[in-house]
Amino acid sequence: MRVFQFDLCSFLILTLVIISLFLRKLYNGKMHRMFLAFVLLIYANTIADIFSSAPLPLSESTLENVREISTFCYFILHASIMPLYTIFIGTAAGTWTGYMTKNKANRFIFCLPYVINLGFVLSNPWTHWIFRIEDGTYKRGELILVTYLAAAFYILHTIYYLVRYRGALDKRRIMAFLSIYPYSLCALVIQYLNSRYLVEMFAYTVAILTLLMFIIRPEETMNSAVGAKTSMAFTADIQRIYLSGRDNNVQIIKLNSDGSLIKLYGINKHDRIIRELVSRIHAAIKNGGGRVSDYNVYYLNYGLLAVIIGKKNASEQRAQELYEALSSKIRTDNIDISVECALCDLNIPDDMATAEDLLDFIDTFEKSNVGAGVFVYSKLTRQEKIQMNFDIDRYIRKAIKNKSFSMYYQPIYCVKENRFVTAEALIRLSDDEVGFISPAVFIPAAEKSGAIYEIGDFVINSVFSFVGKAEQYGVKYIEINISAMQCMNDSFAQDILDKLSEYGVSEKSVNFELTESASAIIDDVLSKTVSKLHNVGIEFSIDDYGTGYSNLHRLMSEPIKLIKIDRSLICELSNEKTRAVLADTIRMIKSIGMEIVAEGVETAETADWLIEKGCDYIQGFYYAKPMPESEYIEFLKNSV
Ligand code: C2E
Ligand code: CA
Ligand code: CA
Repeated sequence: MRVFQFDLCSFLILTLVIISLFLRKLYNGKMHRMFLAFVLLIYANTIADIFSSAPLPLSESTLENVREISTFCYFILHASIMPLYTIFIGTAAGTWTGYMTKNKANRFIFCLPYVINLGFVLSNPWTHWIFRIEDGTYKRGELILVTYLAAAFYILHTIYYLVRYRGALDKRRIMAFLSIYPYSLCALVIQYLNSRYLVEMFAYTVAILTLLMFIIRPEETMNSAVGAKTSMAFTADIQRIYLSGRDNNVQIIKLNSDGSLIKLYGINKHDRIIRELVSRIHAAIKNGGGRVSDYNVYYLNYGLLAVIIGKKNASEQRAQELYEALSSKIRTDNIDISVECALCDLNIPDDMATAEDLLDFIDTFEKSNVGAGVFVYSKLTRQEKIQMNFDIDRYIRKAIKNKSFSMYYQPIYCVKENRFVTAEALIRLSDDEVGFISPAVFIPAAEKSGAIYEIGDFVINSVFSFVGKAEQYGVKYIEINISAMQCMNDSFAQDILDKLSEYGVSEKSVNFELTESASAIIDDVLSKTVSKLHNVGIEFSIDDYGTGYSNLHRLMSEPIKLIKIDRSLICELSNEKTRAVLADTIRMIKSIGMEIVAEGVETAETADWLIEKGCDYIQGFYYAKPMPESEYIEFLKNSV
C-alpha cells in the first residue's frame, strides 16, 4: 500500500489556498495569475496522485483502469510543473516577455525538454517507458529518468535566468523562489529510496505556502482602499522595465487640489474619490479602443497617481482621453466635486534614461506648481520645464555650486519722511543656460528640497555685508524675506545673532519679512525663533497680507511692527468693492498700532489713493524696480 496521506493533506491545504486566492481577488495582474495557475496545477496533480494510489472501493479491473488513467494524467501534469514555475518567476521579475520575445533560440531551448518529456509521457500507453501498472500497483518505467532530466534542466535554467536578471528581484524574493528546489529534492530522495511514500506534491504544497508568505503579499503591492497598486509596486515595476529594456509609456497624474480635498472631506471620503478616479482610469483605457491588458494603475502618494502602459497601446490621444475622464465632475453624497489635475505623459526609456531619473522627475513633478492640463514631456521646451519646476532642483544645486545668485534691492518710499528710507532685498538667479529664473519658482522648490538653508545663508551674508554702505545714504533698514522653513530650524536665531556681530550690523538695520501663511503655521520652534529675535530688537513684517486666512486678532498676539498688503489687492484698486475693503483694512491695521506697506504700486493714482488712506510706506514699479547694489546706491545718491 502506498502512503497517500501526504497527498490528502496537500489536497486540504491547497483547497484552502485556492479559496483564499479567489476570496482575496488575487487573480489580477500577470504574476498573480501565474501563481494561481501554478497552484491549480499542483492541485490537479495531487488529485491525480490520490486517484493513482488511494484504496478505492472498486472492482479490480475498474481500479486498474482508474490507476492507469490517473497515473497518466499525473505525469502529463507533472511535466508542466517546472516549466510553469520558471515562467512564474519570470513574470514576477517582469522580464519574462522580454526574454522570450527577444530571441527565438531562447524560446526553442526553453520548450524543447518539455516537448520531449511530454512526448515520452504521451507514448506511455504503448511503450510503458515512463510507468506501468502491474496487479493494480505502480511500477517505474525504464526511461523515467527523462522526466527527472527535464526537471533538472528547468532548475538550471531558472538559476541561469535569475543570475542574468539579478536586480529584478530582491534577495528575499530570490530565496523564496529557490526554496522550492530543496523541498522537492528532499521529496525526490525520500520517494526514490522508498517509492511507497508519495511526498512530492506535499513538498510543492509547502513551497506554495512559502511563496504565499514571501512573494504573494498583496498588502505590499495593492492599496485596497483605493483599488490601485502601491508606490512600492510602482518602484519595483519601473526598475524591472528599465532592466528588461522594453518600451513603455508612463502617465503621472497630479491632483492639484488634493490637499483641500483631504481637509474638506476627510481621509475616508478622499479615498472614495481616489477609488472613483482609479475606476475612471480603467474605463478610459478600456474605452480607448484596442484590447489593452498590459497596463497598471498606481496610487503613489496623496494626490499622485500613475499609469504604466505598453508603448504600443499608448498615444497622446489616450493621454488626452484619460485627462478628460479624470477632469469631469465626481458626484458623491449628492455633492459634485471637481478634481483639477495635471497629467504628464512620458515614454521610457526614451524620455528618462534611468529608473532613478524617472523617480526623481516624479518627485519634482509632484512639487511643481503646474496648472491643469496634459503635458507631453518630449514636447516641452527647456524654459517650459523650468516654469513648471521640472528640473528646478538641478538648477538650484548648480546655482549654489557656481554662486550664481545675486541680491537686488527695491527701494521703499516712506510717506512721513518723503524719501526712500528702506528697501526690500530680493534674490535673483541667472543661469548660464536658461537665463533668469524667478524666485517665485525656485524659492518654493528650495523650501521643499531644503536648499533654502543655503540660499537663506547667502541672502543674510549679502545683505549684512551691504547694509552699512546703504546706511551712509540715509537708509534706516533693509527688509529681508525669511522663509518659514528657516525659522523652523532650531539654530536659526543663534546664527543670526552670530552674524550680526560678525558683520558689525545693528539689529535695527534689518527687518525680517515672514509671509502671512508662514505666520499662520503653529510651530513651537518658529514662534520661539521669532520671539528670540524680536527680544534682541529685530522687527518683523507680515508679507503678502490678504492672501492667507490670518485674522488681525491672531496677528496682534505676534511681535509684528509692519504689515505688507499684497500686490494682488493693490492691483485691483479699480474695483469699488476692493477699494472699500482696502480702506477698512488700512484703518483697522492702523488702529492696532501697526504700520502699513503697500506693495506692487504701479501708478501715481494708486500711490496717491493709498497715501490718502494712511499707508505709511509705498513699494512698487511706480517708484523703482528691484536693482543691483551699485544701481541702488546711485538711486539713493540721486534721490536725496
Ligand atoms: P514678495 O516678497 O512678495 O516680493 C515682492 C515681489 O513683487 C518681487 O518679486 C518684486 O519684484 C515684485 N514687485 C515689486 N513691485 C512690483 C510692482 O509694482 N509690480 C509688479 N508686477 N511686481 C512688483 P520677485 O523679486 O520676483 O520675488 C518673488 C517672491 O520670491 C517674493 O515675493 C518672495 O516671496 C520671494 N523671494 C524673493 N527674494 C527672496 C529671498 O531673498 N528670500 C526668500 N525666502 N524669498 C524671496
Ligand atoms: Ca517680501
Ligand atoms: Ca509680498
